[in-house]
Amino acid sequence: MHKVILKPGRDWSIRHHHPWIFSGAIGKIADDTSATGATVAVVSAEGDVLGYGWYSPASQIRVRMISFVPDIVPGTEQIAASVAAAVGRRAEFFVDGFTDGVRIINAENDMLPGVVADFYCGHIVCQFTSAGAEVNADAIAEALMHHVPGALSVSVRDDVESRRKEGLPCREGLRRIAGVEPPQMVEIAEGPVRFRVDIWRGHKTGFYLDQREARARVGALSAAKDVLNCFSYTGGFGLYAAASGANRVTQVDISAEAMELAKQNAALSAAASGGQHAAFSAQTVFEYVVADVFKYLRECRDAGRTFDLIVLDPPKFAESKAQVMKAARGYKDINLLAMKLLRPGGILATFSCSGAMDAVLFDKILAEAAADAKKDFQIIGRTGQSADHPVALAFPEGHYLKGVILRSMK
Ligand code: SAH
Repeated sequence: MHKVILKPGRDWSIRHHHPWIFSGAIGKIADDTSATGATVAVVSAEGDVLGYGWYSPASQIRVRMISFVPDIVPGTEQIAASVAAAVGRRAEFFVDGFTDGVRIINAENDMLPGVVADFYCGHIVCQFTSAGAEVNADAIAEALMHHVPGALSVSVRDDVESRRKEGLPCREGLRRIAGVEPPQMVEIAEGPVRFRVDIWRGHKTGFYLDQREARARVGALSAAKDVLNCFSYTGGFGLYAAASGANRVTQVDISAEAMELAKQNAALSAAASGGQHAAFSAQTVFEYVVADVFKYLRECRDAGRTFDLIVLDPPKFAESKAQVMKAARGYKDINLLAMKLLRPGGILATFSCSGAMDAVLFDKILAEAAADAKKDFQIIGRTGQSADHPVALAFPEGHYLKGVILRSMK
């Protein structure tokens, strides 16, 4: 096995189980012929083996750790064991019946760097964003089929931009690598609501599983409220609000396709009402708006329209640290507008999924927006990624999704 030898003094983060080795930390590579995606031993300048990782010559992140156990050289069985462990940590999802949409592997945080695997009612959709993940795709698929209860198929989406940084090609569509041919649409349950998930072309692997807990939290605050759900995608927060008895739900998204699914999901959820988590309200009036939220909020302001509860769940505004300041302006703009549209005592549930923007900065932006809106707010809750998207304590980069629930004091 090839060896990557670190520069003197550059072993601290690996000894603390941070999974990334940047090119600048590498002193020498014992045999530079090491192949893309190969497993390499990581060795300190003093000669201690610190663990093993996947090698990626095209990337600034030259090695991603798959094991910190020096005396066991990992082979395919290591991958199967990591997959099995990740599945085991999700055991409660497969027994409690709340949902059949679950993230099974959350990349670095589950010791499988660059591997995402989402389960939709038996069909598993993967994204591979590291060279090692790509090389080991078949072993990962085989382990998923073997260990995931009710697994029917494993497919791959290669349309994630970050693949380019690893020198991996991007292409559209879904590629089956194990099991049966996956259907075009998969229908999942989440408590009282139902979602049709387009695993071929939908965002991410088809759905935002990471917001499940936040959707439930915000939904529970929605009884008898007039709710504006901005960046609604396929209806998520708005459907939960209806399930809690909201009076009115306005879904706003720029994508007509997503809005079409939001309509179908409302009908499916109403039809499914009466089941275990029944409560989907027949009383809720839905309004569907295909529009740019930045413009729509201004139209509401100009028309003097107000709401009891507003959700802001925009796409990632900052892809990198360099874009954070520009992103900050976008976040401030929509939050300021939304704050102004709230009725007294109204609630704003606001999110940022930009990993490059930390929680402290996000709070600061919200405080600035509140000052400009001339309103005082209380923080009544914070949310993060759902429990099936865990963050490794040694890997703060794994935490990207932040939610703040604010209540207007007047
Ligand atoms: N809240 C959703 C996920 C939102 S993802 C859920 O719980 O499932 C972000 C959404 O913002 C996407 O659906 C995208 O189409 C939409 N979007 C991006 N830019 C937008 C804009 N300027 N105006 C309105 N919608 C936008």
